Amino acid sequence: MSTTEGQVIKCKAAVAWEAGKPLVIEEVEVAPPQAMEVRVKILFTSLCHTDVYFWEAKGQTPVFPRIFGHEAAGIVESVGEGVTELKPGDHVLPVFTGECKECRHCKSEESNMCDLLRINTERGVMLNDGKSRFSINGKPIYHFVGTSTFSEYTVIHVGCVAKINPKAPLDKVCVLSCGISTGLGATLNVAKPGKGSTVAIFGLGAVGLAAAEGARIAGASRIIGIDLNPNRFEEAKKFGVTEFLNPKDYDKPIQQVIAGMTDGGVDRSVECTGNFNAMISAFECVHDGWGVAVLVGVPSRDDAFKTHPMNVLNERTLKGTFFGNFKPRTDLPSVVEMYMNKELEVEKFITHEVTFSEINKAFDLMLSGAGLRCIIRMDG
Ligand SMILES: [Zn+2]
Ligand SMILES: [Zn+2]
Repeated sequence: MSTTEGQVIKCKAAVAWEAGKPLVIEEVEVAPPQAMEVRVKILFTSLCHTDVYFWEAKGQTPVFPRIFGHEAAGIVESVGEGVTELKPGDHVLPVFTGECKECRHCKSEESNMCDLLRINTERGVMLNDGKSRFSINGKPIYHFVGTSTFSEYTVIHVGCVAKINPKAPLDKVCVLSCGISTGLGATLNVAKPGKGSTVAIFGLGAVGLAAAEGARIAGASRIIGIDLNPNRFEEAKKFGVTEFLNPKDYDKPIQQVIAGMTDGGVDRSVECTGNFNAMISAFECVHDGWGVAVLVGVPSRDDAFKTHPMNVLNERTLKGTFFGNFKPRTDLPSVVEMYMNKELEVEKFITHEVTFSEINKAFDLMLSGAGLRCIIRMDG
């Protein structure tokens, strides 16, 4: 039994007091986990676009003060009542969406959209009692997507915690808890390109490059990367991208350019930008008869997708995916194993590292578009 079990823990957390303002490292009190909750000591966390999007709070209901962070790795400190699958000392990845294992979605082999624990960006409290486990002088500090990993300790619902191989290096596999798995799963679980196939990837950020990595692992022979930033191609080659297209270089729609290069279209495409025009291109660039397009990027609120129905009747398939169709608790341990078996390369996604006290630098890097993933070391 740890000495902190059942006690309030005082520790450091990076608190976002207001939208768009630098985070402030504060001493917070973290309450013990309640029923079906676990308290996790976070060792490494990384910054994902979703944190920045909700920190900027443009267009959503602002929930502040709040502790952001959802890509991370840590060790279970203590568990609440009813938790049988995890114990103190287990190595885990917190996940922004969950798997209760009991609802229709969790029981379906096809879905990972758990009714109980599906991502909820507006909720700032725990499900059990509708309260926060974080406070400063008795004033609550809100949670973010059930994970709040920008804290040395955090409390998470057991359904949002994946237990992983204790030999896995946590400073590397922390990036598998969101963006990288999202892109990888979109290709491996949903697009499912065959060996020797042709795959188009729209958007060469971390998620798109993870989708390319999936295509490389699946044995695709041509991986065509599409991005408006020509500087991305050099880096993309490391992820198996063989050809690069910048839509700005052509005076016709990029789907026509792709069709011309591939004898009528690619076998598979994966859209990772969230721009609805790119989504239409990603759908229209797949070959008739068998092509499958997969949408990953999140669009703006008022976007609409328009294509001629004949494009569908000609036996093209359009699919969408959430978190790469991975069930967090069931499937993430095997993604970690893919890395341990050297099938999946994770290091190349990690371009920067900062200490916890320098966390705002990670935000600056992401806002300037530099690099892919910045690891934040909690011990620094
Ligand atoms: Zn469920
Ligand atoms: Zn994320």
